[in-house]
Amino acid sequence: MPVRAGRKQPLPGYKTAKAQIEETPHIATREMAYYKNKENPRTLVPAAITRKKHSTRRIQPGTSAVSYIHTHTGYKRFLSLHRHEQAKPSNEDKGMVVGDLVNSNLKFWHIGSISKSGELIGYTTIHASKKLLESKAQVRKLFLKKIAAERFPDPVTIAQKIFDALLEENAMRIRFFPMPGYKYNKEKWCFEKK
Ligand SMILES: [Zn+2]
Repeated sequence: MPVRAGRKQPLPGYKTAKAQIEETPHIATREMAYYKNKENPRTLVPAAITRKKHSTRRIQPGTSAVSYIHTHTGYKRFLSLHRHEQAKPSNEDKGMVVGDLVNSNLKFWHIGSISKSGELIGYTTIHASKKLLESKAQVRKLFLKKIAAERFPDPVTIAQKIFDALLEENAMRIRFFPMPGYKYNKEKWCFEKK
């Protein structure tokens, strides 16, 4: 097949991100984190320092990191929640997205929903628009304004508010991509079998 300039062609032996995620040990029961770097965007680089059922700690993104991917396991996060909300960014996630927008070169944030049998069933993708990325100073300003408005400022809470504000202003987009055989349930914030 002729290779068209500027178009990504699958390389021989190249594995999809889904395959790379699914072959990670303990993927069904522990969260995992990866970066994709500019130089080699097809390879997921493991980034987790610790992996738990409902959290993962990661190494900080390098300057060439363009995407950050982490997974959510198929187990309920809170017993009190009757809805699963697997595909929803947690409050910690929201805070981290805003921090990354200010402090890193990351443009995409993906949350991979993993079934209890270890299958990747869909992606939540958060993307900051060009408009916002051109002006990271705007995010910093918003951050400082929110801090100034709070009586007892807590950076994580403020970052969550900024996340919601950016979504409302369309400076940030969140989209849901189910894998074949699955659909996204908007009410429950999760992917489920068709
Ligand atoms: Zn998360």
